[in-house]
Amino acid sequence: MSLIDNIIRPDVRALSAYHVQDAAGCTKLDAMENPYQLPEALRAELGRRLADVAMNRYPTPSYTALKAAICDKLGVPDGYDVVLGNGSDELISMLSVACARPGARVLAPVPTFVMYAMSAQFAGLEFVGVDLKPDFSLDRDAMLAAIAEHKPVITYLAYPNNPTGSLFDEAAIVDILRAVGDSGLVVVDEAYQPFAPTSFMPRLAEFDNLVVMRTVSKLGLAGIRLGYLSASAALLNEIEKVRPPYNINVLTQAAAEFVLAHSEVLDEQAALLRAERSRVRDLLAAMPGVEVFPSAANFVLLRINRPGLDATQVHARLLEQKVLVKNVGKMHALLHNCLRVTVSTPEENKLFLDALQTALAP
Ligand SMILES: *Cc1c(COP(=O)(O)O)cnc(C)c1O
Repeated sequence: MSLIDNIIRPDVRALSAYHVQDAAGCTKLDAMENPYQLPEALRAELGRRLADVAMNRYPTPSYTALKAAICDKLGVPDGYDVVLGNGSDELISMLSVACARPGARVLAPVPTFVMYAMSAQFAGLEFVGVDLKPDFSLDRDAMLAAIAEHKPVITYLAYPNNPTGSLFDEAAIVDILRAVGDSGLVVVDEAYQPFAPTSFMPRLAEFDNLVVMRTVSKLGLAGIRLGYLSASAALLNEIEKVRPPYNINVLTQAAAEFVLAHSEVLDEQAALLRAERSRVRDLLAAMPGVEVFPSAANFVLLRINRPGLDATQVHARLLEQKVLVKNVGKMHALLHNCLRVTVSTPEENKLFLDALQTALAP
């Protein structure tokens, strides 16, 4: 037995490290980043603010000002507070840790965001996936049956879902919230809320077991790593206990407070991306050999439908042309031959569409 075999958990040893494609020199359309930066004048002012941050001090542990800005600018209902995470990835792991009672299970429709299952595994929880329907809508009856069978402590619903872009039926989610009742949390993950028409945030008061989770990542601040969730005060109080102290660093805190004071800039960028999304979808829909799915997020999912050509080949041909998209074709049977592409600026979208045209040429 080697040192590694003696100390590292077998399920961790069996994992392969998360592979992130090197994007140097590429048009990067694989990670749902907002392509826009802040206007020059705001960036200069942000620089001055950051220069004044006391990096020799720990953050103020309560994050009162940052939380107030989030509640005020990002639609948290009156009377509700938030718990902050170093990205919503950290919030997911805090939820897993807080709920990891022996034998407990976590449920989510699949395919979905992979961190739900990963984080459950790391915390020693069993993950149960329920297939979406082939059109990527929620299989309400299968979800309700799985809830009855497994009594999950956490049910995750990405709203809209990644990597499909689909927005699950609101009434089906309400049925799930009621079916779970007081035996589990239902976490509605609204990472793509800036691009979606509806939200569960205004409905927090209706459901004691509802947690609404969001992030500023897709809004244009992926680099600062800041997520937040809201729920009843009683739940937040428990989740807060497993939050690592000082998990939001002083630079993130200062940058977020500054940008939220100018949140109209982010709103305008999101509006541009929503308009580009429908333009890109229309152009893709008109391409022979391409099937494009509806999206309520800042990406589109498409399927390569051409005999003799698969998503892996198209992905490679795009990469040869320095366009990086995400090949999700092997992630789940329902995603057969699918690629996920971030919606970007009109210029970058044109680069992608032209490269796809070339990649599809016989
Ligand atoms: C991108 C994404 C996140 C992760 O957000 P971070 O705040 O950057 O950690 C969470 N949920 C879903 C569904 C996502 O697609």
